[in-house]
Amino acid sequence: MAATILDGKALAETMRAEIAAQAAEFTQTSGVVPCLAAVLVGENPASQVYVRNKRTACQRAGMESRLHELPASTSTDELLRLVAQLNGDPAVHGILVQLPLPQGVDETRVLDAVNPLKDVDAFHAENVGRIAQGRPRFLPCTPQGIQQLLVRNRIPIAGSHVVVLGRSDIVGKPMALMLMQRGPGGDATVTVCHSRTRNLPEITRLADILIVAIGRAKFVTAEMVKPGAAVVDVGINRTEQGLVGDVDFSSVCQVAGWITPVPGGVGPLTITMLLQNTLTAAKLQARRER
Ligand code: NAP
Repeated sequence: MAATILDGKALAETMRAEIAAQAAEFTQTSGVVPCLAAVLVGENPASQVYVRNKRTACQRAGMESRLHELPASTSTDELLRLVAQLNGDPAVHGILVQLPLPQGVDETRVLDAVNPLKDVDAFHAENVGRIAQGRPRFLPCTPQGIQQLLVRNRIPIAGSHVVVLGRSDIVGKPMALMLMQRGPGGDATVTVCHSRTRNLPEITRLADILIVAIGRAKFVTAEMVKPGAAVVDVGINRTEQGLVGDVDFSSVCQVAGWITPVPGGVGPLTITMLLQNTLTAAKLQARRER
């Protein structure tokens, strides 16, 4: 039996309309237009596409979007000066530093410099700590999108065994933290796997929900999936056959109960959650100024 498709594109459209309505209401009552400042360093073609898509989504949701484009030769200090300027600008509510930064730039120092109240990617140590303690200010965009995809498709999370494949700071680690928290959208039993995990297929086969974020084209095959499981494919791999995920979609959709496509699964939700976080940031700052 073929799996049910978890349609991230459709959910993203629904949620973008919801966020746009909330943004319009906020602007009407406060007079503030939420504003996201994107910082793009160098000429990485994938980053250029991501930033363009994020800016378009912002504008469509009635938010302002600013772009700061800097050459690949930009130093850490120059970038820190720009971040300080954006931190101090009351018209900017969210700051997005597009990763990866060019070699030679101290990524950690730059991300640490972002005002935690404007940290719409939720990469700052203060925001990560708050997530770990179960009192988040912002949730990181990709894991938040995945959680929404599961919740809104009524896939049971509480009590389920979730296996997260990948332990990056951007996806795997925060995903695991979020799903193990107490309360709605959480209460899962979470196992995190990575490149040093032994007997990987034995573990992935235990998953009621399998979330894969490793950056290896079609790595997860049908034998690694429990029949009926929900499989979420975060991977984006550019291959000769075009864009493919970390999951071998054609074989896995024969055993899984639910599956995300690539493209059209997790990707559109990531940008949607950035809009959500920009609105949250604008509200937080408006409240502090009152
Ligand atoms: P990353 O920083 O490259 O980390 C990859 C993780 O996968 C690491 O924890 C690594 O283990 C693990 N791994 C690599 N090979 C493995 C293997 N053979 N077996 C088990 N584990 C393995 O990854 P990321 O930034 O999370 O990105 C992962 C993928 O998601 C990429 O394709 C990326 O493009 C995509 N992505 C998509 C979105 C979206 O919006 N759809 C957002 C972010 C990322 P170690 O820690 O042991 O090295």
